[in-house]
Amino acid sequence: MSEKLAIHGGRKVKDTPFGTGKRFGLEEAKELVEALEQNTLFYHNGEKVKKFLDAFNEMYGISYSVAVSSGTAAVHTALGAAGITVGDEVITSPITDQGTLIGILYQNAVPVFADLHPHTYNMDPNSIERCITPRTKAILVVHLAGNPANMNEIMDLAKKHRLKVIEDCAQSYLASYNGRLVGTIGDYGCFSTNDFKHISTGDGGMVTVNSAEEQDFKVTHAFADKNYLRLGGIVNRDLSYLAPNYRMTELQGAVGIAQLKKLPGICSNRTAYGNKITEGIKELDGIHPHQVDEGNVCTYWFYMFRIEPSKYDCTRDEFAAALKEEGIPASAGYIPEVVYKSGLFQKRSAYQNSTFPFDVTGAVYEGELCPEAENILKTAIRLPVNEFYTMADIQAMIASIRKVACFYQKQKVAGTLQRGESHG
Ligand SMILES: *Cc1c(COP(=O)(O)O)cnc(C)c1O
Repeated sequence: MSEKLAIHGGRKVKDTPFGTGKRFGLEEAKELVEALEQNTLFYHNGEKVKKFLDAFNEMYGISYSVAVSSGTAAVHTALGAAGITVGDEVITSPITDQGTLIGILYQNAVPVFADLHPHTYNMDPNSIERCITPRTKAILVVHLAGNPANMNEIMDLAKKHRLKVIEDCAQSYLASYNGRLVGTIGDYGCFSTNDFKHISTGDGGMVTVNSAEEQDFKVTHAFADKNYLRLGGIVNRDLSYLAPNYRMTELQGAVGIAQLKKLPGICSNRTAYGNKITEGIKELDGIHPHQVDEGNVCTYWFYMFRIEPSKYDCTRDEFAAALKEEGIPASAGYIPEVVYKSGLFQKRSAYQNSTFPFDVTGAVYEGELCPEAENILKTAIRLPVNEFYTMADIQAMIASIRKVACFYQKQKVAGTLQRGESHG
């Protein structure tokens, strides 16, 4: 029998605050003071960004990475270094932050959207394959919400069609695919340290360069620094092609050094919490937990489950509203719409008063291009996951989902108590 919901005046499941904490402390302050004492905040002359990258490379077991000013900059830098240029097509995800897309358009290349797996919310390799044309130059994989995408199949496709693979790991620190960290599998991995990610330097980002060729690292490094060639002694300012200034400052590098030390703990808490939610809701009829494929580790930037509306006497929005009333900060969906529904793609205007570069490839974004992605956003409910939460907070989330699901579940057996009678 179902309990009276808080939305109907019943007792809230969660009436105590969620766990919180301070992300920054004296560790960051000490690094910042040292940065200032260097008397330079320029990455090339100071030691902080270099140390930050050394620590990052060690944590990831890689040889090369480049520090940049944002996750958006990281993606653009990877695309630029990969040689993505005018009229190229880049296959990517329709459910992502716009930071994934901006660099594609700044290179005057065009995004092509692949549909998603219904429960991992990551790009479906079969759909990626259908998107490949002679213009395709890269697959820009988004590991959404800390959950690794199907990299084996994506790498196979890339090899077969000679495409670059860029991993957008902005939401997926220390997530692993079959024992390999995401961001180390494709040609490049892109990270963000904006204030909403697992770790923050205010703003900032990193690009991993996974090629064994030092030249690929040099090209990437230069692309984030106006194509100045600063590595190895003399500075070469010969501008061979266009590149932006996406440099990270020593202040960000300093904070990053201290933040990186906290990253493993942050991620392991998030993994434990997300997996716990799945355990607690996986057998509920009509609920699909956030699917993490076997062998992978998800570091949950958020947790997102889906409901099957046909099995409930409520809409997705009503379900989310009921959870909110129970004291759980749930929200309906993630981004309001798949990204190709935004004005930029609908009006094909990457630049004001222009339809370039869409004209070059003839790209149009009409209709239901990625039906599964659109369905995900219509039936998903998102829960925040935070390293400062406690297991009791997570238990309350689970209890609330169970309570709301139980209340709204359609009765299957004729003659059983109707909902109305049980909470009369
Ligand atoms: C946050 C984010 C970005 C952009 O990062 P910024 O640092 O805000 O530029 C790119 N891709 C994804 C998937 C993100 O979540």
